[in-house]
Amino acid sequence: MQRISVLGATGSIGESTLDVVARHPEHFKVFALTAHKNWQAMVVLCRRFVPDVVVMTDAQAAQSLRAELASSPLLRNIPVLDQVDDLCAVVTATEVDTVMAAIVGAAGLAPTYAAVKAGKRVLLANKEALVMSGEFFMRAAQQSGAQVLPVDSEHNAIFQALPEAVQQANGNADLANYGVQKIILTGSGGPFRDLPIADLKKQTPAAACAHPNWSMGQKISVDSATMLNKGLEYIEARWLFNCSQEQLEIVVHPQSVIHSMVQYTDGSVLAQLGQPDMRTPIAHTMAYPQRIASGVAPLNFSTLGALTFMAPDLQRYPCLKLAIDACWAGQSATTALNAANEIAVAHFLHEKIPFTAIAEICAGVVELTANAMVDDMDAILACDANARRVAQELIEKRW
Ligand code: NDP
Repeated sequence: MQRISVLGATGSIGESTLDVVARHPEHFKVFALTAHKNWQAMVVLCRRFVPDVVVMTDAQAAQSLRAELASSPLLRNIPVLDQVDDLCAVVTATEVDTVMAAIVGAAGLAPTYAAVKAGKRVLLANKEALVMSGEFFMRAAQQSGAQVLPVDSEHNAIFQALPEAVQQANGNADLANYGVQKIILTGSGGPFRDLPIADLKKQTPAAACAHPNWSMGQKISVDSATMLNKGLEYIEARWLFNCSQEQLEIVVHPQSVIHSMVQYTDGSVLAQLGQPDMRTPIAHTMAYPQRIASGVAPLNFSTLGALTFMAPDLQRYPCLKLAIDACWAGQSATTALNAANEIAVAHFLHEKIPFTAIAEICAGVVELTANAMVDDMDAILACDANARRVAQELIEKRW
């Protein structure tokens, strides 16, 4: 029986995780559920999973949840905590074996890093945490013995296609020693793949969030439309698998059937295929090294149709180029890029800036802030805060 804390329980990944948990009550017991504001969704989850503890980081939402739980004899004793530090406490508790890290954005860094330092089994969906702190994050995992298992479908696919010894090395293997020539990240190209580039400027948040294959939270959906999501994944892959620049490639694959591939020196390419449903990679990480049912239907190859591939067009996706460059420029560049993107995407979702401004803001912030020395977590947080401030200033000046 694994006891699991789910960070970001009310989100898209949280929902899929709890769907898998519910299918295997003999294997998983929920210890903690956390969210930010959505207390109504948390009430439903409390009724269903009766966690030992809940964290709502919005104080008002926490209050509303307490009031609602108080009316139920079964639920009234569940403590509802409301401090950001409580997120760290409910993942490091001795009762916890496994942590699903599925808060969106930089807000997930502190509790995810705390879980890593505490040596937990960390199922990593919150890619921003790794983008912000790559080397420190992986070093902490190596020191504590935490097992970091990638939930992102691409990284999960790569993990599955790598030799077991590389899987066990937790980001510390020399890929060339295992005959790995290249990791090939696939991406659909998002909803604007075939649009004339001149039309990108007038795209709305609703259009950007209408991903052709995946159903996801709003932020990652916009990141998929700019393809910064693939850029963040490129940086994530660099740290999770210890890749050099020559060992990482991105290919556009519109059907999202192949979730990523590993190319070996003998000419073999191993791929992982499946439906675009996050319950598959989630179930894989939850049960690893075993396999459990996820509720996802198998692929039907007779009806699948053609699988196509193309190189990404960096003119259409300037954010992708920014991320690739930032990856090899150093930690402050990826931290600044991530922060700038979070500010820009939030403004785009509130219809304050056009879609194409996201790339302009990211480029401006990286240029102005990305040469800071970051040699510990405090410096990373300072770099993140500075990049957010500069992004805000750029927006105020220009839009
Ligand atoms: P959602 O927006 O659907 O959910 C985000 C979750 O984080 C919610 O539970 C939300 O709570 C919580 N949250 C938001 N802000 C805060 C905060 N400041 N403090 C604490 N909790 C907060 O996101 P997704 O599930 O789509 O994505 C989660 C992570 O997984 C992201 O990093 C994303 O990149 C990654 N990922 C997602 C995939 C997907 O298919 N969705 C695929 C691969 C990776 P509340 O509901 O109360 O606001």
